[in-house]
Amino acid sequence: MPAPIDYSKLRIVPDFDTAEWWAAAREHKYLVRQCPDCGHKWFPPIFPACARCGSLKPGWFQTAGKGVIHSYVVVVQPIVGAFIGTVPYVVAIIELDDCREAGGSVTRVAGVMLDDEPEVAIGLPCEVVYEETADPRIVMPRWRVSGSAANVWRFNE
Ligand SMILES: [Zn+2]
Repeated sequence: MPAPIDYSKLRIVPDFDTAEWWAAAREHKYLVRQCPDCGHKWFPPIFPACARCGSLKPGWFQTAGKGVIHSYVVVVQPIVGAFIGTVPYVVAIIELDDCREAGGSVTRVAGVMLDDEPEVAIGLPCEVVYEETADPRIVMPRWRVSGSAANVWRFNE
C-alpha cells in the first residue's frame, strides 16, 4: 500500500457543482450525474447540461461503488505537495458496473488506488473505500482491487 496522502497540503473547496458530491462522500455514497430526462450518466459532475439530450437539470445517481479497471498510470513524480511521500502510487480509470447504458456507453471515474502497482491490472474488479481526512468536510473516495479476473493486463507484461 502506498504511503498516506498528506491531505493538509490539499485545498479542496466544494463549490456549486460539487458540494452535493462531497456531502454524499461524507456519507460514504459515490454519486455520478444522471439526466432525469434520458437517463444518461456522467462524471465528473461539473457539466451543467446532459451531453446526450441537452437537459439543464442534471440529477444524481448513487452507484454501488464497484467497477473494473479500464486503464491506469503509475505516478512517480509528485506535482502536488500532498503526494510527495505517497509516490509511487496508481491512478486508475474505473468503469462503474452499474453505469453501463443500453447504447454501450459506460461512466468512468478516476481514482487513486490503495494497492501498489504489482497488484493493479487492467480488467480487475475494484471497489470504492472512503478515507477520512483531518478536515471533517472532506472524505476522500479511494479505490482498491476487490477480486481477480481471467484476462488481465499489466504495463510490465
Ligand atoms: Zn439527457
